[in-house]
Parts: sequence; C-alpha cells; structure tokens
Amino acid sequence: MELFSISAKEGKYFNDKEGFIEVESCPVGVMFCTEHLAFINKKMRFSRSHWINKNYLLAIEELKLAYNKTTELNQTSCVQCADLFRSTITNSLETIQEDLHEMTTGFFRARRFQASYELATRTLKEFKENN
Ligand SMILES: [Zn+2]
Repeated sequence: MELFSISAKEGKYFNDKEGFIEVESCPVGVMFCTEHLAFINKKMRFSRSHWINKNYLLAIEELKLAYNKTTELNQTSCVQCADLFRSTITNSLETIQEDLHEMTTGFFRARRFQASYELATRTLKEFKENN
C-alpha cells in the first residue's frame, strides 16, 4: 500500500503532462532561460529524490532554490518561461504539502513531519504571493 501510494504520487509529481522537467529548452525559443532552466531542472531532480526518501525539509529547500532562480529571469522575452517554471515549481510544492497534510492529520498522524508540513505551507504561501 505504501509503495503503491508513493509511485502514484511520484507520477503526479513528475510525469504530469505539464511537467516542467520535460521542458528542456526555452518554450518561446529565445533561450535566455536555458541556463536558468538547467539549474531549475537540477534542483527539481534533487527535490524529487529527497521527497522519495521522505526528506521533506530538503525537498522543500530545493524547490525554494529553484523558485528563487526564476526571479533572476527578467528578460521580457522569457516572462512566459518564468511563469511556467514558477507554476510548475508551485505545483510540485502543492503535491508535497498535500502529502504532508495527509501524514500530519488523522488518527495515525506522524508528529515528526509537523515541521515539514509547516514549512511547506509557509513556502507555498510565499510562492503564491510572489506570483
Ligand atoms: Zn525562455
């Protein structure tokens, strides 16, 4: 059950059709964002492996680094790229936050994930305020 649930969520986290990780070059073809994208993709991969290992705090930190990188991408031609990156990073954080919400509520709640849940909630709020 546990394994199934992890793989189901992994699919949601990464193989989503709008999944950011599949975007390997500038969607508008101008390429100002190529380096940013490479950095962000790397952070997304790190985040994913921390998440799979239930290192939620580290998974969230990697997403923050990825998100902060998008704010350096301020060329007009890549405004849409930056928006796409931010919304994909935000979606990944939402998935993590939902995951933590399930684990920190209900009868079998795991108190050890409480700090991670609070960080996820706080970070998600910051991401949404900046959007
Ligand atoms: Zn671009």
